[in-house]
Amino acid sequence: MGYELSIEEKLQLEEELNTINIRLATIDGDYDDFFEIAQRCLVPVFKKLKIAKATISMKAPKTVLAPEGLFGSEILCDTGDLPGPNEHEEAHDTKEGGVSIVTYFPKVGYEFGDYELDKLKYISDLVYAWGGRIRVRGLLDKSLSSDGMTGLPNLKTVLGFVNMLIRRGRVGYYNAYYINVRNFQYVNKISTRMGGDKAMTMYAGRLSSLADRDEMIGRIGGDNFIAIIKRVENDAFLEGLKAITIDVETPSGLRSVTLSAVAGIYELPRELIEPESIMMPISMANSMAKQVLHRDYVYYNEEIAQNVIGSQRVLIDFESSLAKHEFEAFLQPKIDLTTGEVCGAEALARWNHEGEVIPPDVFIPPLERDGTICRLDFEILRQTCDILQNWVDNGQKTVKVSVNLSRWHLEEPRTFDHILSIVSEYNFGHELLEFELTETVDSKEYDSMTRLLQNLRNEGFTTSIDDFGTGYSSITMLKDFKLDVLKLDRSFIMKIGTPTEGSKDRVLISNIISLAKQLDMKVLAEGVETMDQLEYLKMVGCDMVQGFYYSEPLRATEFSEKYA
Ligand code: C2E
Ligand code: CA
Ligand code: CA
Repeated sequence: MGYELSIEEKLQLEEELNTINIRLATIDGDYDDFFEIAQRCLVPVFKKLKIAKATISMKAPKTVLAPEGLFGSEILCDTGDLPGPNEHEEAHDTKEGGVSIVTYFPKVGYEFGDYELDKLKYISDLVYAWGGRIRVRGLLDKSLSSDGMTGLPNLKTVLGFVNMLIRRGRVGYYNAYYINVRNFQYVNKISTRMGGDKAMTMYAGRLSSLADRDEMIGRIGGDNFIAIIKRVENDAFLEGLKAITIDVETPSGLRSVTLSAVAGIYELPRELIEPESIMMPISMANSMAKQVLHRDYVYYNEEIAQNVIGSQRVLIDFESSLAKHEFEAFLQPKIDLTTGEVCGAEALARWNHEGEVIPPDVFIPPLERDGTICRLDFEILRQTCDILQNWVDNGQKTVKVSVNLSRWHLEEPRTFDHILSIVSEYNFGHELLEFELTETVDSKEYDSMTRLLQNLRNEGFTTSIDDFGTGYSSITMLKDFKLDVLKLDRSFIMKIGTPTEGSKDRVLISNIISLAKQLDMKVLAEGVETMDQLEYLKMVGCDMVQGFYYSEPLRATEFSEKYA
């Protein structure tokens, strides 16, 4: 049965509740603090009201920040007295459609009366208001510190975590990772409209489960993540990254997809001062892994930094170098093995930059990465046309000159028109120009390659397949494309002279040559450096050679003096 408090007791109760109210107003966004204060401050109040204990349970619907929804029950306050039956519930509906319920258990042998019930309602209102404020603040903090889509920490939070490690002197035990998911475009392609986001959120969840409590994984946008993992966990973490399986909603139902990732790794130095300074090493190592070395992961080191900076310089300097005509087409002669005469040349780009002649292996790879190479190809084509026109105009002896076409040209439907528009400014015969292409495995490129080759041949240009036998160019191309010349890659020629090692290469060479003959193609051997090589190639009926044995690539003026 209920009972009455004296006036003094009631006044004191009001004051105590008021104190709790003020105390709770000072804590921010942390449930643990809230429950600690509630436990400590509510005990005297509960004792007066004969409450043994109270629990609070919350049910919240699924939201972005709480993707699993929220359901939890906590002890709000436990006085240690034995609880009896006849508990009383006070419920509050939350704005998001959830509910928060406080359940009060009276001491054994008591039942709440009107006065207590009135106070219980009052306490519940307070608790709900405090809890709501804390929850809102908590959510707000979370939304400022996390990525809105996946709920993972954002970059700022991860850097804050690194800062904490620095302050605690622990940073030297950690690695930082820049992670990029492979082929996420594929997931977007097969998924329904919302499916892509859901799949990314699921991926993020799986990825973040690879981290321990004292580690952190955040999303920095798109399919890029950043992770701070203890160095001793490195191998296990990389193993986990290799295959993360997610369910993707496709128009025809759920489909499970396993994704791998590329990581740039930076072993954080003990002396690290600025959290932000981890960004450059991890992103450099990542682009090195992804674009240059084509590996799952790469550890950052000084050499990588130099390489990446060098590549960036190339791209930065490219435009102005092109405008200043710093790129120059060198010509390397091709020799007809039946006559022993120069029968052609290949135009190879050189970069005259800051007093040096820079070879293509320095500047071609960075230009290849984003397709800038096409601009260079057109420049070399133009210069080659100038050279040919000069020979014709001066009545010199002319030879066919080949130019290289990067595979990037196949992405651009106007490549052929562009080539024609350049060549049409000249009036030498098209039989003087040859185009070298490498094979492609991409089926879309395959189609555009067919068209480009057909168009070039229709216009009377010669076409050749470059680097034949390297995997870029192989046998299937011979089946589907009509080409004039097959350029045997240098890797076959290198070992011709060695008795045992070269035996397989010799078998291949002679068979490729006879195959090409039957397909009505000429064969040119690249990279011929020795007499042995030359003799063997002659013997098996190779048509042409190109290599240092005869000549290195030469300046056009030098080439003209010698051969034109
Ligand atoms: P590639 O098209 O296979 O060109 C042949 C390369 O082999 C040239 O290297 C040439 O100098 C080199 N070479 C020729 N004979 C010998 C030899 O006897 N021994 C050895 N070890 N090497 C020999 P380079 O000029 O450094 O060009 C390298 C690559 O750069 C070319 O390989 C080509 O893929 C690319 N490249 C050069 N210029 C251009 C260009 O204007 N456009 C495009 N797309 N790529 C180019
Ligand atoms: Ca070539
Ligand atoms: Ca080649």
